[in-house]
Amino acid sequence: MNAINFENSPNSFKVRQLSQNEKQAMQEAGVWKEGCPVPLDRLRAVEFSYFYLKKDNENSWSFNGERKHDGKIVVLEAAANYVCMIFEKLYQINFPIHKACPMEDYGANDEKSMADNNSSSFNFREITGGGLPSIHSYGLAIDLNPPQNPYISFLDDKHIQGEGNAKILPQSGCSYINRTNLRTGMIESCEKGNAVIKIFKEHGFPEWGGNWNTPIDWMHFQTSRTIGQLLVAMNPDDAIILFKKYVEDSDLLNKANPKNNQFVSLYNTYRVKFMELLKNNPTFLKMSADEALSLMS
Ligand SMILES: [Zn+2]
Repeated sequence: MNAINFENSPNSFKVRQLSQNEKQAMQEAGVWKEGCPVPLDRLRAVEFSYFYLKKDNENSWSFNGERKHDGKIVVLEAAANYVCMIFEKLYQINFPIHKACPMEDYGANDEKSMADNNSSSFNFREITGGGLPSIHSYGLAIDLNPPQNPYISFLDDKHIQGEGNAKILPQSGCSYINRTNLRTGMIESCEKGNAVIKIFKEHGFPEWGGNWNTPIDWMHFQTSRTIGQLLVAMNPDDAIILFKKYVEDSDLLNKANPKNNQFVSLYNTYRVKFMELLKNNPTFLKMSADEALSLMS
């Protein structure tokens, strides 16, 4: 029998259900657990081919056109087809990725995953620094090539006087803080400048952590938190309709309050009317919840 020649393998981009074994592994590792905003059954695996970003030595990475076909990322079902399209587009613009393995391979430990230059999405955890559940807990945030696109936060206010410390994750990302020195695997490095950012934006992930001030999270793309809250409150069919509308117009729900998202209770109380409006005139999701309520009854 001939050895498989991976160079000749066809590219593959697909969405599928998680197997029972995968679900069990996620639970055993604590990637998914009770209290997670999204039920396990609503997560999907996106499998994809990619150009390989190869590690030559500690601070040197290269891209020679080699392909891999084992990319796998876990996301919310409503976004899964769009995430699949994102990785297909990244392939088309030759954006290289080191690897994309499920978080249970790292015992749900984000720092280990980042240190291994692993690209990932779903993982139930608080935002780095603590507090609210991360958008990763909704399967609606994606991290790409962490060392090339690190996370930096400032540990205390003293940095204003120049006395504090910056925290950089992963540690190997230190040499990539200078974002004008473009190297392969950096989000901004593609020939067409902001091509990667544009691809994410056009497929429902308009927020890029590289645009934040503190922390700055160059690896990270996400939906808005308020859209995530509503998507997981909806039934799966309705969530697919909402995500499509959000892809078309990322300003939806920008007036909703993430601490008390009243659009969730509007949906629960007036579901039929809510969905009728969403299909025909989704601009009500740009109003305040009080204004939108007046359209429901
Ligand atoms: Zn992230």
